[in-house]
Amino acid sequence: MPIKLVILDRDGTINEASDEFVKSPEEWRPLPGALEAIARLNHAGYQVVVVSNQAGLGRGLLDMVQINAMHAKMHKMLAAVGGRVEAIFLCPHTPEEACACRMPAPGLFEQIAERWGISLAGVPVLGDQLCDVQAGSVAGCEPHLVLTGLGAQWRDQPLAVGFPPETQVHQDLPAFVDDFLAKQAVQIKQSKVAKDALKAKAAPAGA
Ligand SMILES: [Zn+2]
Repeated sequence: MPIKLVILDRDGTINEASDEFVKSPEEWRPLPGALEAIARLNHAGYQVVVVSNQAGLGRGLLDMVQINAMHAKMHKMLAAVGGRVEAIFLCPHTPEEACACRMPAPGLFEQIAERWGISLAGVPVLGDQLCDVQAGSVAGCEPHLVLTGLGAQWRDQPLAVGFPPETQVHQDLPAFVDDFLAKQAVQIKQSKVAKDALKAKAAPAGA
């Protein structure tokens, strides 16, 4: 049974993006329905992991104390709606540092694969930017784009060249979760039908 994991970008996907960096708990504001959507994933048995480029750290615009305060707010607000994020993987570097973990590089995803001891093949990643989707795709994830945050630019035009061709587009995080859980339900039903058929074959009625 493959591990049930969903990887989400943070700014612009879970919470409001900012033209500057999101720097304080006050500036960390969840998008409508986002926390409840995470809780629904949890209730369906999925662990949720967050990935985020935080170049503001490398630039000295914020420090780990502020990051931790922001994440404490996120965890608390999530807990209030019955949701939970397992872990948050950050890239603290600036683009100039040319690290292996700033998305679109797949380093954060490699860290997740290592931590869970799994391949990320087929694990969905949802983000609002090309770099999130690309990084996940390189790591073998199933790429999903939201039209919130910086994704809003794709509302009225086709996706730019560079997006993996299999990228699926969703209005927002709640819409992704609706779609994703509906597909899982169909798959579970299909595999149950297949199992029942096998059982019926192995033990024919009246035998
Ligand atoms: Zn990095």
